[in-house]
Amino acid sequence: MHFEKLTDTHCHLDFPDFEADREVVMGRAEEAGVRRMITIGTNLETSRAAVALAERYRGVVATVGVHPNEVGEVPDDAYDELKRLAAHPRVVAVGECGLDYHYLPSRTAKRNFGAVAAATLAQTGEELALGLADGAVKARQEAFFRMQLDLAMELGLNVVVHQRDSWEDCLRIVGDYCGKLRAVFHCFGGGAEEAGELIKDGHLISFTGLVTFKNAPVVQETAARVPGGAFMVETDCPYLAPVPHRGQRCEPQHARLVAEKLASLRRVNLAAIAEETERTAEMFFRFPQPGV
Ligand SMILES: [Zn+2]
Ligand SMILES: [Zn+2]
Repeated sequence: MHFEKLTDTHCHLDFPDFEADREVVMGRAEEAGVRRMITIGTNLETSRAAVALAERYRGVVATVGVHPNEVGEVPDDAYDELKRLAAHPRVVAVGECGLDYHYLPSRTAKRNFGAVAAATLAQTGEELALGLADGAVKARQEAFFRMQLDLAMELGLNVVVHQRDSWEDCLRIVGDYCGKLRAVFHCFGGGAEEAGELIKDGHLISFTGLVTFKNAPVVQETAARVPGGAFMVETDCPYLAPVPHRGQRCEPQHARLVAEKLASLRRVNLAAIAEETERTAEMFFRFPQPGV
């Protein structure tokens, strides 16, 4: 199946997983037709590394941002450095930023101790303490999220949003910026209705290898029904390798497998998916012209 080009719109090329063979991995992506990669910052260090990779490799552009699970480690004045980094001509968006409630203190405690201990926690007042700790984490995540949305608005960039177990709060915050910027909700795992809520406000979603998993009928249904022009392809590598590589290290070349799955779910050919998602990505990220 002939197609011009695919973009892996969300990968973490700077991660140590790729330290030993990064250029080989990038070569394999090129061979699979994945000729452009957007490497995503998650804190100040990885944002700097993302920009450095984008400077070094023609097929790579970067985003800079602070991931919600990183906000505890990042200094309060991260804004200044993010702003400096985001001004780089090869930075195409702010993020990934957002909310992730999966590892809130109370949830982690319940996962670690099980149901019986959860009851004990309630009796000892420990639950109250965990609730307060949850509140502090949520507040810091929200502050960093809003700071990055403000930055994106200021610089005229769009944003890459990470949302996990925090749908309502995420929507409320992004809603405050409605009409002022656009967001892509990456690694989308929700239903068609949730996707519709984003798309009506001009936002996008992107699909990872999750869409190839047997136990993911909801997101497969979404992928089949979401309107063209409202979705993109990503890997989120080194995580979430698609079938048949599930459990192994994921690579940008696997964006092709994600696109193939989207093609089969939507009953079109791979070239059509590649063309459509490329056009969407070009408009959303406004890639730098060759030579920049
Ligand atoms: Zn993410
Ligand atoms: Zn990511």
